[in-house]
Amino acid sequence: MFTSFFKAFTNLFRKPQTIDYPLTPIPKDKDYRGLIEYREESCIYCLKCEKACPPGAILFVKSDNPSQNEKNKKGLVYNYNPYLCIYCSECVRACPKPDEALWQSNKKPEIAIKSDNVNSKWFELEKLK
Ligand code: SF4
Ligand code: SF4
Repeated sequence: MFTSFFKAFTNLFRKPQTIDYPLTPIPKDKDYRGLIEYREESCIYCLKCEKACPPGAILFVKSDNPSQNEKNKKGLVYNYNPYLCIYCSECVRACPKPDEALWQSNKKPEIAIKSDNVNSKWFELEKLK
């Protein structure tokens, strides 16, 4: 009984193990892997990232308004769905130009709101493949 009383008393002077969420944001782990970032100018349009992505969160589709990158011979446009992405980093591993064309940032996706209609837009893109 004395031990538990002593522990309870010393706990009064310890830092809490919890955080004051949502007033205090949740700290990121040092190994946190977040959103994929893409730089069109460095991309060679090999499509290895698209093929490597387990949930299909990267899609290159033909567009009437493609980038002017000279490697983009098929007129493709990069699309990324942060709500399908599982942050596995397979696309970055597959990319021949990691850190130039494709890399993993520590950013989190925005909280999607209903009007974003993320899935419907993505289904439309998948139909173009
Ligand atoms: S991190 Fe994984 S799930 Fe996300 S786009 Fe890359 S391969 Fe796909
Ligand atoms: S793997 Fe890299 S270079 Fe190839 S299409 Fe994807 S982003 Fe571009």
